[in-house]
Amino acid sequence: MKKALLLAEKAANSQEVPVGALLVRDELIIGEGWNQPIGSCDPSAHAEVMALRAAGTAEKNYRLPNTTLYVTIEPCSMCLGALMHARVEHIVFGAKEPKAGVLDSNVEWQSASFFNHHLSWRGGVCEQECSALISDFFSRRRNEKKALKNLARPEK
Ligand SMILES: [Zn+2]
Repeated sequence: MKKALLLAEKAANSQEVPVGALLVRDELIIGEGWNQPIGSCDPSAHAEVMALRAAGTAEKNYRLPNTTLYVTIEPCSMCLGALMHARVEHIVFGAKEPKAGVLDSNVEWQSASFFNHHLSWRGGVCEQECSALISDFFSRRRNEKKALKNLARPEK
């Protein structure tokens, strides 16, 4: 998870919401990713999907069984769908995502009958650091916007 946090910082450095992910098999990292939808003009470029793409390319396989995905924030519906298609076995996430999370926060999609694969998960790993990274990012962004607004305001 510490490594996933470092990847999340890469996203933050490019003004993207800081989420990092990596895919591990037999204690080896086979794919890494960080959130980059804005910079890559790709709505599907979430950290989890980027890690899957890297692992798929490295493994020359669209299925990635016997793997564990580590991600700093609870996955959204799109990412959980992709993880299911890839046949990932286990997900470990840091902080919950109360709005978009679909493992624990809203619905427990992993057990939905329309999926023909089942995975297990665990949340709350390095929760404080993962959640602080996100909230620091948004508070920094709010302050930057405020500063810009003040700059744009004409002097009286
Ligand atoms: Zn996602």
